[in-house]
Amino acid sequence: MNAIPPIQLAVVQVTPFQQNCSILWDNYTKDAIIVDPGGDVENILKVLKDNAVKPKEIWITHGHLDHAGGAMELARKLGIKIIGPHIDDKFWLDQIVSSWARYGYNIGEDCTPDVWLNDGDKVSVGQFEFDVVHCPGHTPGHVAFINKELGLAFVGDLLFAGSIGRTDFPKGNHADLLKSITTKLWPYGNEIQFVPGHGPMSTFGNERANNPFVSDEVMKRQA
Ligand SMILES: [Zn+2]
Ligand SMILES: [Zn+2]
Repeated sequence: MNAIPPIQLAVVQVTPFQQNCSILWDNYTKDAIIVDPGGDVENILKVLKDNAVKPKEIWITHGHLDHAGGAMELARKLGIKIIGPHIDDKFWLDQIVSSWARYGYNIGEDCTPDVWLNDGDKVSVGQFEFDVVHCPGHTPGHVAFINKELGLAFVGDLLFAGSIGRTDFPKGNHADLLKSITTKLWPYGNEIQFVPGHGPMSTFGNERANNPFVSDEVMKRQA
């Protein structure tokens, strides 16, 4: 038996918003992808170098500044493509610099992806394929990346350990977010571990049991 795990994950917190940028690689091919490089690109490059992996693609869950603000710089430096989110988030990607300025920061770049994603698309790292799941609510073009066999999901700002994404932004929609989480994420199963955009990892099962916004108990009371 081989003790090397088939896939490896490193999470780096980036930007003043402490956003979880994930670096995921196939341990056999060493092919790597970077999910949501919001900023602090030098720190991301260091993790890639320290682990001697081969960066192949950048995946973006949604167009917010803290998730996509470093994508163009990273893509340029590595010579790789930016994949996602759904085109409905273009208006967010086009205002990353001005959004950071509103928070008082002169950082980030507006982002122009190479590929827009749609519900049902597939993306791959090494031998592992992830489903693209379009989940509007926090933003209209938000997507999640899920591999059921690995039991791993990247959910951006849809869902957190004990909370859910804000819906008070332009084109945010609370009902859509609840629907996305309960009808598009939950069916993947309770054992799925997820990396949220902020804060610690959790599982869908934990959130179905305990999340004060979307637990089964709470949803039943709202029905
Ligand atoms: Zn967000
Ligand atoms: Zn965020």
